[in-house]
Amino acid sequence: MDNQFLVSLTEKYGSPLYVYNASVIENQYTRMMNAFSSVKNVKLNYAVKSNTNLNVLKVLKNLGSGSDCVSVQEIKLCLAAGFDVKDISYTPNGVSFEEIAEAKELGVKITLDNLSILEKFGNAFPNAPVSLRINPHIMAGGNAKISVGHIDSKFGISVNQVEEIKAVLAKTGTPINGVHMHTGSDISDASAFVQAMEVLLGVAEQFNTIEFVDLGSGFKVPYKDGDYATDLEELGKVLGASFNAFCTKYGKELNLIFEPGKFLVSESGSFLAKVNVIKQTPNITFAGIDSGLNHLIRPMMYDSYHKVRNVSNPNGPKKEYNVVGYICETDTFASNREISEISEGDILSIENAGAYCFSMASNYNSRYRPAEVLIVKGKDYLIRERETFEDILKGQILIDSL
Ligand SMILES: *Cc1c(COP(=O)(O)O)cnc(C)c1O
Repeated sequence: MDNQFLVSLTEKYGSPLYVYNASVIENQYTRMMNAFSSVKNVKLNYAVKSNTNLNVLKVLKNLGSGSDCVSVQEIKLCLAAGFDVKDISYTPNGVSFEEIAEAKELGVKITLDNLSILEKFGNAFPNAPVSLRINPHIMAGGNAKISVGHIDSKFGISVNQVEEIKAVLAKTGTPINGVHMHTGSDISDASAFVQAMEVLLGVAEQFNTIEFVDLGSGFKVPYKDGDYATDLEELGKVLGASFNAFCTKYGKELNLIFEPGKFLVSESGSFLAKVNVIKQTPNITFAGIDSGLNHLIRPMMYDSYHKVRNVSNPNGPKKEYNVVGYICETDTFASNREISEISEGDILSIENAGAYCFSMASNYNSRYRPAEVLIVKGKDYLIRERETFEDILKGQILIDSL
């Protein structure tokens, strides 16, 4: 997005500010659908947790996307955004049976990842179909916190427990309508997908009621220049051929589902923050912005790299900075980073801020969560107002006798 335009948005809506560009989301969606066009029935279920703004959900719904939810609240957000209930999937991990029952009553598609829950579900809802999240025991993912398909992961039912699954189904009669996996975020090795899919298809062929195969996500997007990104077109060719061959063998045209979050929305977002202070220490020049780990925690939590640009002075001479927040602990957005010369009052843009940024924001240090803006066809719309002190007080109860 144009630097001057970004600066003008902070003048109009204040700082810090999340800005998303709908056309980037549209391009990513189309690119992914095209990559898998060799498969007859492909569906994308947007992973809602990456960005839960109702308008972002609507943009994706209008493109034909379904949604993938990990909580009953996310399901309700999708319903509020106008998703048809049949296009909503629910893939919880470790939630209560009561919540799963609530999702079932709402009518969404359910994927279970625990044998005890599978049995409870079968007893409570006789003959209701479910799909199973299988752990294929593949190590993949950008870092340990987001690698979720390895042998010691809490996610999925082990691929080694298929006989136990069958024993439960023998008791409950539950039809299995799909198999699911999600091996982790930020997978840079495309062969991991193919390998894991083969394992999953090995499970699918043991059930005769399968309608879909859900390969989850983990599609990587570039965060810095020269970064490896998933080669989607190549992956589409290889996976598509393998999947089509399986459908022929299985004797049915199955649906192929993906659940991208980051891939669809990450690059659409910029997080704009104003530089409050420049501080020169013996070794480091700090640029302190009016934000912190309360608004964008990925660099601190996952050591993620986010590009930082000085949109107020894009052509200034490059200097090295540590970009830090205002939270009372070390919250570093970027270290030893070459950025166009920064002055107090400049607006910095932190890139790739569309996924897992606002949705992970908090009120730590009793700060307000930022406003959000969506650009649609070049026009800016405020899609979430900045919080106020009322929001900080909300829900607190004073004890009268204190
Ligand atoms: C988080 C999640 C996704 C999305 O992962 P991305 O890396 O954002 O694409 C997909 N499926 C499930 C079940 C998830 O929990």
